[in-house]
Amino acid sequence: MNNFPFYNFTIVGAGASGLWLAYALLENGLLENNTLCIVESDQAKENDRTWCYWASQALAPQSMVSKEWQWIRHGQGKKEVVTLAPYRYFHVRSADFYAQMKATLKNCKSIEWKFEKVVDVSEGSHHAVVKTSNEVWLSDRVFVSTWLTQPKQHELFLWQSFVGWRVKTTRPVFNDNSMSMMDFDVAQSTATQFMYELPYSKDEALVEMTRFGAEKLSTAEAEVSLREYMSKKGCAYEIMEVETGAIPMTPQFDVTEKSQSATDRIIFIGTPAGAIKPTTGFGFKRMYAHANAMAHALKNKTKLPTLHRKLRFRVYDILLLQILKSHPYRGKEIFERLFSTQPIQRILKFLDEETEITEEIAIFARLPIGLFLRSLIVYMFKS
Ligand SMILES: Cc1cc2nc3c(=O)[nH]c(=O)nc-3n(C[C@H](O)[C@H](O)[C@H](O)COP(=O)(O)OP(=O)(O)OC[C@H]3O[C@@H](n4cnc5c(N)ncnc54)[C@H](O)[C@@H]3O)c2cc1C
Repeated sequence: MNNFPFYNFTIVGAGASGLWLAYALLENGLLENNTLCIVESDQAKENDRTWCYWASQALAPQSMVSKEWQWIRHGQGKKEVVTLAPYRYFHVRSADFYAQMKATLKNCKSIEWKFEKVVDVSEGSHHAVVKTSNEVWLSDRVFVSTWLTQPKQHELFLWQSFVGWRVKTTRPVFNDNSMSMMDFDVAQSTATQFMYELPYSKDEALVEMTRFGAEKLSTAEAEVSLREYMSKKGCAYEIMEVETGAIPMTPQFDVTEKSQSATDRIIFIGTPAGAIKPTTGFGFKRMYAHANAMAHALKNKTKLPTLHRKLRFRVYDILLLQILKSHPYRGKEIFERLFSTQPIQRILKFLDEETEITEEIAIFARLPIGLFLRSLIVYMFKS
């Protein structure tokens, strides 16, 4: 084993969680005396997604935020505009994130990049062993943001799938100070479906059709709704870009332990570590927080944190997923009631899992409680 190259750290996958972690290691001075290998299978990674998140302040480095909104269009017909304060809703193009992270990491002599597909990671007697089809190397810690073998699909599994158009209109029809999150004024079919609108300027916006369902939204289905949505703007438009994607909605990757053993050499990060909240598909901000917590733990030689979530929030997610799976047509009613009865700040705090139980009671009291109780009974009998 002694002849193989050695790095103190290896990060498998230079996506959101991998780059956040590399950045946190650098920022916390952990690469002054340690080496890091970043291995990524896709050298040509481009603008493959858009990340949005809400927070009171943009995540650093703030220069990669391409747009932010301080207002949301809310309520029936999405006509009422309310402030998000103290939150703001931030928009980051993945191309900007990759470019900014790579430019920052490039100056660090302790980092080596490899563009290869990792085929195996295993625990050796003194180190972790990383294998690609061409190379083998050793590491003290390997952070893995992907599955090397595809996991079996959990019985409670839906897709959050979306098709978005970046459109340019011939007239100023958007209010670029406010975005809308869940507009249910679209056909529900056999799944819960809604529209997002993120205006970049008065004549340019991302309009996105999103589905929570067992089957992914097809481009043809989305186009019908997107065309109808845009026709209500009453002017001609050009489609500049098309964005499609699908995010797993499942409790499968939830973790029950708060920390990992100090001796673990293979550590999952990002999606396989449970970074994506099953009912929202949001994970970018959690990966940032996890990367920072991980870097602090490595610096202070304490146990490494997991992406553990409080039990009650895991149960809420399971109940909602069960409802969306068994009664997809009730999704619209649940989300519309949530948005019409609660202040937006409480909803965002709840989705961040930072609410107190009293606030959660206030939320559930206004939802179809019988449906949640039936779902709870199903959950208790199954587990
Ligand atoms: C289209 C889309 C839009 C999203 N929008 C949002 C959003 O607005 N807000 C939000 O909070 N979350 C969003 N998410 C959810 C989540 O934040 C992203 O999926 C995020 O990119 C997940 O980060 P990750 O590090 O787990 O995976 P990724 O970012 O996918 O990174 C994994 C990396 O590993 C590489 N890789 C894979 N296999 C190997 C291998 N064998 N060897 C080497 N490298 C490998 C991949 O090429 C990839 O670069 C979105 C997800 C998608 C799919």
